[in-house]
Amino acid sequence: MTAQVIDGRAFAAGLRARVAEAAAAFEREAGRKAGLAVVLVGEDPASQVYVRSKGKATLEAGMASFEHRLPTDTAQFDLLALVARLNADPAVDGILVQLPLPAGLDEKAVIEALDPDKDVDGLTPLSAGRLASGLPGLAPCTPLGCVMLIKDHLGDLSGKDAVVLGRSILVGKPVAQLLLAENCTVTIAHSRTRDLAEVVRRADIVVAAVGRAEIVRGDWLKPGACVIDVGINRLPPADGEAKGRLVGDVDYASASEVAGAITPVPGGVGPMTIACLLRNTLVAARRREGLGEIEI
Ligand code: NAP
Repeated sequence: MTAQVIDGRAFAAGLRARVAEAAAAFEREAGRKAGLAVVLVGEDPASQVYVRSKGKATLEAGMASFEHRLPTDTAQFDLLALVARLNADPAVDGILVQLPLPAGLDEKAVIEALDPDKDVDGLTPLSAGRLASGLPGLAPCTPLGCVMLIKDHLGDLSGKDAVVLGRSILVGKPVAQLLLAENCTVTIAHSRTRDLAEVVRRADIVVAAVGRAEIVRGDWLKPGACVIDVGINRLPPADGEAKGRLVGDVDYASASEVAGAITPVPGGVGPMTIACLLRNTLVAARRREGLGEIEI
């Protein structure tokens, strides 16, 4: 069997186009653009790239982008004051604080200071609680993107066996909650799980969010499984390479011989994160203006 490739780039482009349409309708109804504020503290090169592409995507979707760049030596008090200003700013519907923060800043306290109704990254304890309780809220972007891809591929997920590898607050736990909400039977595996291969072999759906290059191999999979690879790992450079290759948590070559469908790395889950961030910003904006919920 050769697995169908789940094209996250194409799905994300479609989602961004739907968000742009919904953003135009929002502007007509609310008399203003939906707005996303992104806060970047320090000079981390990867974070700078992410922030730039988030700003560009926000503008392309017809939304307002507010970028706040603060120096590495920013005091906790000043960062919290900025978050408080953004919480109170009526033009701001979503706030994203780019992580990781420089050493010395208390990430947890900054996240907890965010207005949960503007928490478009879904990271506050209240957002996590709403997700676990089945209340309307904002789910973290990467997990939301994973489940959108799975539903697009499989349709109704009721009764499917899903195994999530990883239990982080950012990815594993929210993916598991979203799959549970879709009526999957969910197992969460982690570094202490015994016989991981045997656990994974039960799954109709595998979501790998471990951060270990290519640990999930083809012979771990149930034939026909839908495999979502969240991992982004850089291999050491091979001879003649300046940089090592980017690979996922799944050994793509062997897994694609057994799986029914699989996301590539790059081009699978990665592009869904920004698309879902834009989607969440629009959902937050509509709620803040008292406009009805829409499916995007
Ligand atoms: P994380 O916080 O490091 O969590 C990793 C999880 O994997 C932990 O729950 C850990 O278990 C588990 N784990 C580690 N080694 C394991 C092993 N050998 N067997 C089974 N489980 C193991 O990572 P994360 O933030 O969730 O991210 C996971 C991966 O996704 C990373 O590669 C990251 O770069 C990528 N990622 C991609 C996107 C994107 O595509 N946009 C977004 C976010 C993250 P314990 O809890 O027991 O330690």
